[in-house]
Amino acid sequence: MQGVETCAECGVPIYITSEHLWHSSGFILQRRDPRHIIIFLESENLEELLKGVERILGIPIERIVVDARRRTAAAYMERVIPEGLKRAVREKKVEVKPVIEGMTSIGHVLGYGRFEVVDCRYQGDEEDFLLVRVENPYSVILGSADPVAAFEALVGEEMGMDHEQVGPSTFLVRGFRSPHPEEFRERLRMRRYEYGEGDFSYEKCPSCGGPAFLSLYRWDLERGIITHRESGRRMVFFAPSVLEAVFGELERELGEEIPKVVVEAQKRFTAGGFYRLKGEEPAADLKFQLALRGIGLLSEFEESEEGLRLFMPNAAVPLMVVGLAQGLFESRHETGSRAEWKTGERGELEVRVIPA
Ligand SMILES: [Zn+2]
Repeated sequence: MQGVETCAECGVPIYITSEHLWHSSGFILQRRDPRHIIIFLESENLEELLKGVERILGIPIERIVVDARRRTAAAYMERVIPEGLKRAVREKKVEVKPVIEGMTSIGHVLGYGRFEVVDCRYQGDEEDFLLVRVENPYSVILGSADPVAAFEALVGEEMGMDHEQVGPSTFLVRGFRSPHPEEFRERLRMRRYEYGEGDFSYEKCPSCGGPAFLSLYRWDLERGIITHRESGRRMVFFAPSVLEAVFGELERELGEEIPKVVVEAQKRFTAGGFYRLKGEEPAADLKFQLALRGIGLLSEFEESEEGLRLFMPNAAVPLMVVGLAQGLFESRHETGSRAEWKTGERGELEVRVIPA
């Protein structure tokens, strides 16, 4: 991809390290607005977590997930797109297509796959549409809402969307004028994340000053794909507030057992052997693995045959952490278990895993 500068030493795009700070709290902060955090996660985990929830419930959840994703994207775009730009588009002083192209190109750096605006029409009537080709999206249900949400925020009209698979890993996403269903007009609750200074520290790249551990990953900017250099696993940057809002919507629509179902799905995925801890120093390894992904600070960790206990003063997506802890315990001790957890007002998380 042209115009994206990468560090000659570690190979990481300068955009990634200049816009994000791997903070001592184990969160990844947006430097422009440190109230916002982002996680850096295996895309297979995101996809399998949602599929796992669906398998356990035995009913499709795609409609709820897609809609919650569209609404969170629309709220985000509404906030970040300057009013002047919206006005210029609506007064037809600025073409909408290049604006959307500029926005989706950031996704190439974040691991979203390759986006191309195929066609678009904005005349301010019912015929308006947006057509985007997405190659190798990290997730079809989570990853196709952004361009449509950008269009919606720019033109100020409610849009519906659908997608069609046109190749092995190519999709056409279509946005069209459609009023949102009444039940989805309510604003989603987006969690605010609190954190303080912590003791997560790391070596820095001597050239760009970003975390040296990011050189474990390779950026293919042409295809919009980030992979681990050894395992080949694909990574993506994702807002934890969006994931938590999706879980919240599932709970609102399907009932209060949803948090337990999310934990169970993450446990099964983890216990299948996807993540492993170094045998010698599991606490230090888990602390590093969590903070590398921006999930938070592991400050206490005890584990034996009798069980596992961990405490984090701040944790993003706590339900994933509970399932992860339980899955790791089960695979390390080859036993079944049950998990108990408590979250605090400021985002603290305590997890206990008890063998069963
Ligand atoms: Zn560097």
